[in-house]
Parts: sequence; C-alpha cells; structure tokens
Amino acid sequence: MELKLLGVYGPYPKAGNHASSSYLVKTDRAKIVLDFGSGALTRLLAETSIEELDGIVISHAHFDHTSDLLPLNYLAERYPDRKIKLYVPKDGDNWYLKILNMNYFEAIEVDAGESLEIKDLKLEFYPVRHTVKTLGVSVSTARGDESSLFYTSDTVWFPELTEYIRGAKLVLADAAKPEGFLGPHMGWDKAVVLSDACDGKIVATHLTPDYDPSDKLLPLGIDVAREGALYVL
Ligand SMILES: [Zn+2]
Repeated sequence: MELKLLGVYGPYPKAGNHASSSYLVKTDRAKIVLDFGSGALTRLLAETSIEELDGIVISHAHFDHTSDLLPLNYLAERYPDRKIKLYVPKDGDNWYLKILNMNYFEAIEVDAGESLEIKDLKLEFYPVRHTVKTLGVSVSTARGDESSLFYTSDTVWFPELTEYIRGAKLVLADAAKPEGFLGPHMGWDKAVVLSDACDGKIVATHLTPDYDPSDKLLPLGIDVAREGALYVL
C-alpha cells in the first residue's frame, strides 16, 4: 500500500504551489483519496485518471476537505457511464451533495463502527471530535496483513485516539498546531503523545500556513507532512 500526500494545509493552503487536505492511497488494485480540499484535483490528475479512481472518502464537510469536489463535478460530466463513489459521513452536513450533479456521483453513507472493502482495501471508521460530524479512518489491505494507515482527520485530543492508532504502521495526525493548542485541532505536543503510544510512524499534518512544527518534531523522529511525499507501507 502506498500513501501520497497531495495536500496538507488547512484551513487554506499556503501561498504558492500548495493544497489543502487530500491523501491518495493506492495498491496494485485500488486507488482511493482521503478528503478533497482545494488543489486536490490537479494533484490527483497528476497521479491517476478519474476512471481509475475507486472512490473519495470525505471525513467531514469542512471546505478545506471538500472544496475541489466542485470542479470535479465538471470533469465527472465527461464520464457519464461511471459514477464517482463518494463515501460520506452519515448524518454529516454534506452540503456538497446538494450542489454536485448526482447523475455523476454515488453517495455512500458511512459511520463510526462500520467497515467496508474497496477492492483489496479495508476501511474502518472511527468517531473523532471536531466541530462537525467527523470520521477518522483506518485503511488496511484486505489480505489481512499488517500494512495499515490511520487518518485522524480533524480532531481535538481525546484518550481513545491512542487505542485507535494501535497497530498502525503510519498515522496521519491532525497535530501540527502550536504546543497546547486547544482545538479544534491538536498541537504538535499531541503528535509526541501519539508517537509514544504507537510503534508506527507519525506524520503531523493539517499544517497552518504560518506555522511549522518541524524544529520540534523532526528531531523526535516524527514527520511533518510535505506535499508530494510518498510512504510505502
Ligand atoms: Zn475541519
């Protein structure tokens, strides 16, 4: 399984060639994207075609995780025989579903505690704590090996997070804000706590354009998300 970071900023991208939350996960058989913030579409198209995409998982309805669904609508019109699957939080404020032309998309509601398989990928959803309904997601290969990724999406700190990430080889954690940040995201100090609780690699993401915790985290062996970075799990 490979993870490529397409966009790592929130709530808006840093000036220049940057993008908001979006992460491509692929195996030999499957390609999915976790979230689709501004700048995600052009970066996805540099990696694959829409025809080869098996689905887009939306963790929550904030604009920095969804906004490139709007231009995707125009591209989707070119493939009228192939609906793009959108996995969306059940009971979320999924405003984009009212704007997109649903002749070209298929919305599939998912909820915490549920799991599903997309080709050889297995996804399991977890409740996290943000300002709106938000799902964390674990992605592993359906072969049952230990190759797994946990994406916290946007969340404040809560103790169960350390249980969710147990066994993950890589954790994409919304933990790149200044130390002691009160929310609705986590400070870099929580990336350290997560690293202590897990044998896997922690990648602090959802970077604020004007703050970078690299000087704090890199010496501890914790990565700070960089667009274009590729992780092989
Ligand atoms: Zn958010």
